[in-house]
This record gives sequence, C-alpha cells and structure tokens, in this order.
Amino acid sequence: MKITQVSENIWSLRTWAIIPIHVWVVTEEDGLTLVDAGIPTMGKGIRKFLKQLKAGPLKRILLTHGHSDHVGALNKVLQEQPVPVYAHRMEIPYMEGEITYPGRKKPAQSIEKHLAQPLKEDENGNLLRMGALTPYITPGHSPGHVVYYHEKDQVLLAGDLFTSKNGKLHRPIPMFTADMEKAIRSSEVVRQLKPKRLEVCHGNPVLHPVEDLDNYIDRTLTKQKVLKS
Ligand SMILES: [Zn+2]
Ligand SMILES: [Zn+2]
Repeated sequence: MKITQVSENIWSLRTWAIIPIHVWVVTEEDGLTLVDAGIPTMGKGIRKFLKQLKAGPLKRILLTHGHSDHVGALNKVLQEQPVPVYAHRMEIPYMEGEITYPGRKKPAQSIEKHLAQPLKEDENGNLLRMGALTPYITPGHSPGHVVYYHEKDQVLLAGDLFTSKNGKLHRPIPMFTADMEKAIRSSEVVRQLKPKRLEVCHGNPVLHPVEDLDNYIDRTLTKQKVLKS
C-alpha cells in the first residue's frame, strides 16, 4: 500500500485492484478519522498505519457512499477499534440492501444493518461538521454520495464524485454511476469551496480543481449528449 502525506493533517493510502483505490486518514484534536474503507485487502495496512502514526486512537469512520470498494475493510478495522461509522441517511438503505441502487438489477448489501449511522444534520438539513471535516451532499454517482472538506488544509476528499487523469477532472466511472447528469451538477461544490487540492478514490489528486471545472462540465456534458443521440 502506498502512503502519501496529502497536507498537514491528511494522509492517503492507496492500493490497486485494476484501478487505484484510496482511503484517507485525518489527524484530529481527539485522535484520527478514517474516510472510506476501501477493499478487504486494505484492512491490515490501514490498521498498521493508524498505529504507526502515533496520533491517538481512531475516533470515527466517514463514508462517501456505500459501494463495495468503499466499505470493504470496515469489519477488519472495527474489529480492532469499534468506532461509529457515518454515511448520509439517503445512502444507508441502499448499502444495507433495503433498496436497489438506480441502474442496478437487484439490491446489493455492502454493509451490515445498523452498522452505519446517519451523518448529523441541523434543523435545516445542513450536514454538521465531523471533526475537522464538513460533509456536503453530492448525489449522482450514488443517491446519497457525500464529499468531505477539510477547511484548514483546503483539501476536498471527493470520493467518486470524479475520477481524474493527468491532473484533470474526469467523470465518475459510468458503469457504476446512477445519474451522470446529477453527478455533473453536484460538481459545483468545487466552485463553492475552491479547494487547493482535490482527492478522488480512483485517480491521482487534482490541484486547484476550480480552474478545470468549466472545462470538465463542458467535456462531460458533450460526452453525455453524444451517448444519448
Ligand atoms: Zn462508487
Ligand atoms: Zn469507487
């Protein structure tokens, strides 16, 4: 597993399974946050790195969404450190296999029932900050997909909202994306936050992604139209 320090408080851990798969570890005042849980074979490496950091105990796991390549090492990590696991309330019934992800033929349970709890919201439905990360709902790739923004480090952990190639934004993998046009609309979160660096699960980082955003939207919408016509 390749470990990279992304910013002052964030590390990325990467493995390969045909495509690259990243998870992120964030140092917090009260310990550590793990964002996403990759595939099962990453479990050992994640556990080892959490110890190696010597930055306190794991406090929470935040999920961008419930696809199997984002929750695979959950059990292995939780065996050692039982901590709360959070995902968006809209995503939970899909990952628990209660309802079928749009575009799929049948429900697919990727996580044990009641293992994940909903991200906290205020009375207006805004997602509350968890440790140093603020979640933003970004549906499209999956119905309850969220990204996590680290304000202090100005890093956006974008999960599968995008992939990337040669330092540019690319669309999420079409085969696994429920609603591409919605995913493209959700990319506006980049304009709102203007992160210095954007991390994706399946690709390399994109620096100053807002500079590529209009281009990304044009390129991807064109591709969508070509496919539909
Ligand atoms: Zn996904
Ligand atoms: Zn994925």
